[in-house]
Amino acid sequence: MTRVFSGVKPTGHLTLGNYLGAMRRWAAVDQHEGDALFCVVDLHALTVDHDPARVRRLSRQAATLLLASGLDPEVCTVFVQSHVDEHARLSYVLECVATDGEMRRMIQYKEKAARERARGGSVRLSLLTYPVLMAADILAYGTDEVPVGEDQAQHVELTRDLAVRFNQRYGHTFVVPRTTVPKVAARVMNLQEPTAKMGKSDDAGPGIVYLLDEPDVVRKKVMRAVTDSGREVVYDREERPGVANLLEILAACEGGDPERLSGVYESYGALKKDTADAVVEVLRPLRERHKELCADPAYVEGVLREGAERAREMARPRVDAAYRAIGL
Ligand code: ADP
Repeated sequence: MTRVFSGVKPTGHLTLGNYLGAMRRWAAVDQHEGDALFCVVDLHALTVDHDPARVRRLSRQAATLLLASGLDPEVCTVFVQSHVDEHARLSYVLECVATDGEMRRMIQYKEKAARERARGGSVRLSLLTYPVLMAADILAYGTDEVPVGEDQAQHVELTRDLAVRFNQRYGHTFVVPRTTVPKVAARVMNLQEPTAKMGKSDDAGPGIVYLLDEPDVVRKKVMRAVTDSGREVVYDREERPGVANLLEILAACEGGDPERLSGVYESYGALKKDTADAVVEVLRPLRERHKELCADPAYVEGVLREGAERAREMARPRVDAAYRAIGL
């Protein structure tokens, strides 16, 4: 059976980008196709300036949203990364296989480190080693498939390199995973700045749709989306990033193809209205289920406890094997 692993980082409230780029497919397809694990990767939330109470709160919220999005604990394993020691244990061993040069080449590191420095802050060492911990998350479970948005593809590529290198040096221990990126909405862009991705860790802004935004807030954000100077509603990611982003979002919500929506709309206003309606509709069941789950914290607690136990059992033999192989 195909082993699937993916996760979300509790660095902020989850966004429409997380949902359309990843979570929706996890619930609709991935959890059913294989033996799947979905993780709130809270250790990764400590790589940038953080508030402990907020991280704890956001971890719980992210776990609740994963369940609200349709992940079924009877079908897949949902858990929190820090509840399973194997991730950190394996990460150290992989640090002894990775090089500092390859870490410094990671685009996300370069971008985030530059942002921290521009703010006058210092860069945590864990921001540099983040992709190694991510490799450990994936490799600990013998993962075959990692369904992620486009922004994570480079990290999964690194994970593959580390697995191959470890296997060559110390004997076959890890499965070499492959990435699966969605065809539509692999990269949802910020509505106010359509050349930047809609990322939850950015400052809260009018260009980010959060999964728990009230419907009228969602509508307002979509209606105020920045479009381009032209008039025609055509799909062109390079020349018309604002309109292309709206077409992608609309297509993703309706299960269509953005190219086919090209030329269908007569005005930006009409496109925005339909997109706003589609987003509100897509998020409705998720928001409702989230509300129900919030009323039953003991249930969520139980799911996460059991999930961690299952995950630990799955990870331990392979991590033990890696320790033996590398000489410990
Ligand atoms: P972020 O902090 O950027 O939201 P996460 O690592 O928590 O990143 O993202 C969880 C999943 O959501 C990943 O698979 C990631 O590729 C996907 N994702 C995040 N933002 C977007 C986006 N704007 N468009 C498409 N997919 C996204």
